[in-house]
Amino acid sequence: MSEPTILLVEDDDSIGRALQGALTAQGLRVEWATTAAAALEIVAREPVQLVLLDLGLPDLDGVEVCRRLRAGHSELPIVILTARHSEVDVVLGLDAGADDYVTKPFRLPELLARVRSHLRRTRSSYDQRQLSVGDVGIDLDARRVTVGGVETELRVKEFDLLAFLMAEAGVAATRERIMTEVWDEHWFGSTKTLDMHISSLRKKLGEQVGDDEAPSRITTLRGVGYRFELP
Ligand code: CA
Repeated sequence: MSEPTILLVEDDDSIGRALQGALTAQGLRVEWATTAAAALEIVAREPVQLVLLDLGLPDLDGVEVCRRLRAGHSELPIVILTARHSEVDVVLGLDAGADDYVTKPFRLPELLARVRSHLRRTRSSYDQRQLSVGDVGIDLDARRVTVGGVETELRVKEFDLLAFLMAEAGVAATRERIMTEVWDEHWFGSTKTLDMHISSLRKKLGEQVGDDEAPSRITTLRGVGYRFELP
């Protein structure tokens, strides 16, 4: 299945380019419109899975764009970007049908995490079966994992754990959620098994184990859980 398409509506060249690069690196397809007119044309022409919408556009108020997008597409996730530091804009945008908002300047990993979270919510419409984060690639259908293009063998639970963490890359996954999603929803046993799997996963991803200072793709969040890091 093809990658999800993100409609990026942003008239600021440097922000637009940065976002386009970051989203493309996440395996997403990006259609970048610098005007409201171009954005509405794209949505009319092709399926889009999420809209990142700047509110300050040259030709039409972003809130109005949001309203028009929502009128035609009830399920489409719309995330507004506002530089105005104005609660009023955020409220107007949410009233006009936006699902979420990010104020500029934003942290890129946080914005990407929000995008992924909204895409997951509408997974049925795109169902991403192949993920890549940095040099690690995973194919959920073939159950294959590659590190730097070289295939590596994982055990069943190691694979499931990696798939879960990579799908939420950049976001903290609590131990409880991991145990529920990867092991069993009625898991009441020790979560030591999780630590053991993380340890062997790190080894199989070619990392030095036992050296807490060495950089790792999987960060241990003491007392919380783990996070698969974005590159
Ligand atoms: Ca703008």
